[in-house]
Amino acid sequence: MANRRCYYEILEIEKGVDDEKIKLSFRKLAMQWHPDRNAGNPDAEARFREVNEAYEVLRDQDKRKRYDRYGFPGIEASETADRSGGQGSIFDIFNDLFGGSGGRQQRNSGEDLQIETLIDLAEAAKGITRKIKVPRSESCGDCSGSGCKPGSKKTKCRKCDGQGAVLQGQGFFRIQRACPACGGAGQTIADPCKNCGGKGTRPVQQEVEVKIPAGVDDGVTLRLTGYGEAGPARGAPGDLYVLIRVRKHPFYQRNGTDLICEVPFSFAQAALGDSLELPCIIGDPVKLNIPAGLQSMEVLRVPGRGMPNLRGGRPGDLLVQMRLETPRKLTTKQQELFKELKDLEDNHPQSQTKSFFEKIRNFFAGSADSTKAE
Ligand SMILES: [Zn+2]
Ligand SMILES: [Zn+2]
Repeated sequence: MANRRCYYEILEIEKGVDDEKIKLSFRKLAMQWHPDRNAGNPDAEARFREVNEAYEVLRDQDKRKRYDRYGFPGIEASETADRSGGQGSIFDIFNDLFGGSGGRQQRNSGEDLQIETLIDLAEAAKGITRKIKVPRSESCGDCSGSGCKPGSKKTKCRKCDGQGAVLQGQGFFRIQRACPACGGAGQTIADPCKNCGGKGTRPVQQEVEVKIPAGVDDGVTLRLTGYGEAGPARGAPGDLYVLIRVRKHPFYQRNGTDLICEVPFSFAQAALGDSLELPCIIGDPVKLNIPAGLQSMEVLRVPGRGMPNLRGGRPGDLLVQMRLETPRKLTTKQQELFKELKDLEDNHPQSQTKSFFEKIRNFFAGSADSTKAE
């Protein structure tokens, strides 16, 4: 999976080209790599399969949209949901949170919708219910989604003779397409419903309550089954995908379930030790003990005070990175005290500092000797 080629690259097209262009390119490449024409070329079959796979995704508006937006995981999401299993993808969360088996409807359903919502880190830690206005379409009440004026019926499509599909292409590539006249329904509307103009659906602004679980991370997508666009008559509506974005916090960063925070401390605190209270994203402030002799950039770990675990289980830890801060402005009094301290150090260098300078002097003396010796 590491080096999967981009579908657009495989089909040798630019992102954003129209369906016709995709189809043309697919046909050309499928001909080129067809196993029947490539006897003895061991790569051909793989290429042929690759081209087919890319086309399967890009020809489908829905899949293509998801691929453009999320890349391969977007495609695997629907596959995962279809198979009601799969592991390792962040999209497994669909199954965990909504509907268990992830029972995605057959293709006879409405289009899926995607929206984004921005929350802050504290909301991600606690979990939150968001009300989101979703512009979607709803099945028309007057005609129950049929699009026909009440009392009237659809008539058989003349273009496809009610088959809903037409065959196109020549040679060994005959592609069955949805009939352009009836959109694959096999029927057309002679007397359209006034309320929806024959579409069978009406646009609505629906307020949807989205339960965002505690511990959710930036980039997680939640699926709300049935909150997408209305389906064709009697078909199920599509799904709504809510992409969660988590706003950057000025003090706390996230690493998996751990939270990381950088805290400055002074020479005096480092030398003597101290204790302080650190305000936290959730819960009471954390009591931090600075042990005497703490070095700069050392990390103090506070177990269980990170982010909650989205899948249950133990929460992450809080990692406090202690940054020793050198004072920039000194009062006269501080200056005197630091001078006094320095005089003391000059006369009685600390063991570590002393041994460092001994070691580095010896090192250079040693290498100078060895050059001489040659
Ligand atoms: Zn209607
Ligand atoms: Zn037709």
